[in-house]
Amino acid sequence: MKNVWKDVDAYLTQSLHMVEEAMDEVLEANREAGLPPIDVSASQGKFLYLLAKIKGAKRILEIGTLGGYSTIWMARALPQDGKLITLEYEQKHADVALRNLQRTNVASLVEIKVGPALKLLPLLAAKEEQSFDLIFIDADKGNNPHYLQWALTLSQPGSIIVIDNVVREGHVIDEESKDQSVIGSRALLQQLQSEGRLEATALQTVGIKGYDGFILGVVRDKG
Ligand code: SAM
Repeated sequence: MKNVWKDVDAYLTQSLHMVEEAMDEVLEANREAGLPPIDVSASQGKFLYLLAKIKGAKRILEIGTLGGYSTIWMARALPQDGKLITLEYEQKHADVALRNLQRTNVASLVEIKVGPALKLLPLLAAKEEQSFDLIFIDADKGNNPHYLQWALTLSQPGSIIVIDNVVREGHVIDEESKDQSVIGSRALLQQLQSEGRLEATALQTVGIKGYDGFILGVVRDKG
């Protein structure tokens, strides 16, 4: 990772008061539990929080919890009667996340569902009566095209969908890549071209997490 990206990220997060003891403790708890450091950065977490605020989101869905770092950022934007459902494959990650949600006082707003997201999403679609205002997709990247389909099923016109890690250090342009995450990103972009239900952009990012990027979209009005 380029040092300047990391240093500028540190400068920006400090300047804008995004560094906070409680959130540092969350990252420390993740580290102590042996979770991989693949959570979003503080700036990205704040970005998700701001999106939820701008949207006035009352219902948020996350695919890929890890230790709950991004979950906490988004949950903090919810009103008291809001709800965030987050899906996680690994029981151990979910256990760490629950403790982190409790320590940051957002556990009452969040429900962690454990299992493969592609099994949980149909159950959610069958059970949930209301759609989600914001959906953050951040799990196994090879399944992103499936997750986009479910996100569209579980949303309504005006819902925001964010899909993380689509640029893969630039490998997204490698059409010969055998990497499942790159293949997933390319299939996702192809799907967005043909799909038409999501008005989307893709932004490249650099920072403490290296070089990557995300897709941000809003579900179109039914025309
Ligand atoms: N959103 C988290 C954050 O920023 O703090 C980081 C999520 S991490 C990149 C991806 C998570 O997705 C991991 O905890 C992993 O166990 C989980 N995951 C991977 N495959 C999954 C699947 N098929 N269903 C649900 N979760 C999955």
